Amino acid sequence: MENDVIIIGGAFAGLTAAIYSARQGMNTLLITKDIGGQGLLTTDIQNYPGFNSISGFDLASKFQEQASLYGVRYVYDEVINISTDGNLFKIKTFSGEFESEGLILAFGKTPRDLNVKGEDKLKGLGVSYCSICDGPLYKNKEVAVAGAGDHALQAALYLSTVASKVYVVQKGSRISGSEEMVNEVKAHENVVFLTEREILEILGERNVESLLLKDQKSGAEEKLKIEAVFVEMGYVAKTGFIKDLVTLNASGEVIVDQFCATSHPGIYACGDVTNIPYKQAVISAGQGSVAALSCINYIHKKRGKGSLKSDWKFIDSKKS
Ligand SMILES: Cc1cc2nc3c(=O)[nH]c(=O)nc-3n(C[C@H](O)[C@H](O)[C@H](O)COP(=O)(O)OP(=O)(O)OC[C@H]3O[C@@H](n4cnc5c(N)ncnc54)[C@H](O)[C@@H]3O)c2cc1C
Repeated sequence: MENDVIIIGGAFAGLTAAIYSARQGMNTLLITKDIGGQGLLTTDIQNYPGFNSISGFDLASKFQEQASLYGVRYVYDEVINISTDGNLFKIKTFSGEFESEGLILAFGKTPRDLNVKGEDKLKGLGVSYCSICDGPLYKNKEVAVAGAGDHALQAALYLSTVASKVYVVQKGSRISGSEEMVNEVKAHENVVFLTEREILEILGERNVESLLLKDQKSGAEEKLKIEAVFVEMGYVAKTGFIKDLVTLNASGEVIVDQFCATSHPGIYACGDVTNIPYKQAVISAGQGSVAALSCINYIHKKRGKGSLKSDWKFIDSKKS
């Protein structure tokens, strides 16, 4: 068989899984739409250990360089279906079909877009989808949060500790979110709620400069001067095509145990696509290693080989 392990997704989770899998001698194929995933949306990651500041692109490129050293092969395509055939997984993309003995799902999550003019152009240039990640870049600046509910309020709460002023822009007539969260946010004087406002456009040449808002009651349009807008409308796990294969939670995330095992034998999942909390690059990478070691052990067991306890112990025992 050509592929022992197939990994779907080429960002921090998938590339780490690929490093571990290939380093243990597994024929490893990584199928992905891109290298870097959500990391490509940020120019400045300041909380990945070992790097004071690195762009998501550069960090992912380093991961890929390391994976390539161990012979990982790549297919740049989108996976559209997964099925099983006896002991094998069949992975279908737009352009082909691939088979493997073990499968690792690492295809992340996509932040929900605001879907307004200017958003695509200014992504990473003041349009952010991650307040914890990018908030510190706007210390003492005026920023806006677009979104409703506790997710957006949580972002506003955090940003109020960094930015000089935080505008929370919502379409509805009353502030949306749990009473507890609303009260907590209201206690911060630098947070201003702008309800009954629709964001029509994000304006700016090289960076975000303002939002074009429409007053829902009067229909009047106004510009709100800010330096960043945090689109906090939640994330979408595009897992529809695997819903009959593995168990998902109500948010569409793949449910995994501490071994990153899904409900289906031989399928492991890691990173933002899973139900593990705190969506961060370092967490995805850590989970990627767990998923790979578990997947290798699944294959070893099928082949009647002993199981690995960890990556370094395996290398140690080879030397002795
Ligand atoms: C703007 C922004 C800034 C951020 N800043 C930070 C930060 O400073 N620090 C930090 O720790 N975290 C940050 N994060 C979060 C971090 O980027 C994510 O937690 C991390 O990228 C998740 O990695 P992942 O590998 O699990 O999935 P993702 O990054 O979501 O990558 C998924 C991969 O799967 C591929 N894929 C998706 N669907 C398919 C398919 N059907 N077929 C084939 N391939 C597919 C994608 O192309 C991509 O390569 C930020 C996120 C955003 C959006």
